[in-house]
Amino acid sequence: MTTAKPQPNNPYDICTWQPEELCEGCPLRGRLKCRFRSGDLLHFMGMFAGFAIPAVIGMARGGFGWWLLGWFAFAMFFFNVWESRILCSHCPYYAEGGRVLHCIANYGALKLWKYHPEPMSRAEKVQFWIGLAILSGFPFPFLLLGRQWALAFVAFWGLILFFWTLNRYTCTRCVNFSCPLNRTPKAFRDEYVRRNLTIRKAWEASGQRVEDPAKGEA
Ligand code: SF4
Ligand code: SF4
Repeated sequence: MTTAKPQPNNPYDICTWQPEELCEGCPLRGRLKCRFRSGDLLHFMGMFAGFAIPAVIGMARGGFGWWLLGWFAFAMFFFNVWESRILCSHCPYYAEGGRVLHCIANYGALKLWKYHPEPMSRAEKVQFWIGLAILSGFPFPFLLLGRQWALAFVAFWGLILFFWTLNRYTCTRCVNFSCPLNRTPKAFRDEYVRRNLTIRKAWEASGQRVEDPAKGEA
């Protein structure tokens, strides 16, 4: 459990936002992406660019440049409003005080919602898949209609690599445990939840069991 009193930038007393000195001795240190690191953000953005750049070039070359505005507008809506509510508002990174999100993927998004420490609901998970399909599928009809075969292939390959590296290097260590992509080991998840009373209460209230090895439950 966190030991610092809630700070103005940490109103829910979440360890991710406590001073890093207090992480000393934590068994999760280095095992979870529980502290903001610019390298993690750059990795995420770099991998996403491997999909987005060929898709943008292909749409423009295929004569559908104006449709990029529609893709951009949807992305802004998704990242700042829709995904922000159904996914990010449940994430410990979202619990920081202030109106701007500082996290390893959706950095800079506006925080229009309040923090929701409980897990995502089933309806939110379904919406997440729908939103993700629209966002990542949007350019492909235009690439095909514009006969941009090579760029469509490169964008598709970039998308596969993006999800593959995300799944392998981020989803196994991410602290938004109820995300449908999350694959963090349960023991690490429970350790993190036990250290954060706000999250523990919300998870247990929603019927999730948080095991405690100290009580012989693991
Ligand atoms: S789980 Fe919390 S206390 Fe442990 S290293 Fe991560 S941020 Fe620090
Ligand atoms: S779920 Fe991912 S994108 Fe959303 S706040 Fe957490 S780390 Fe950032």
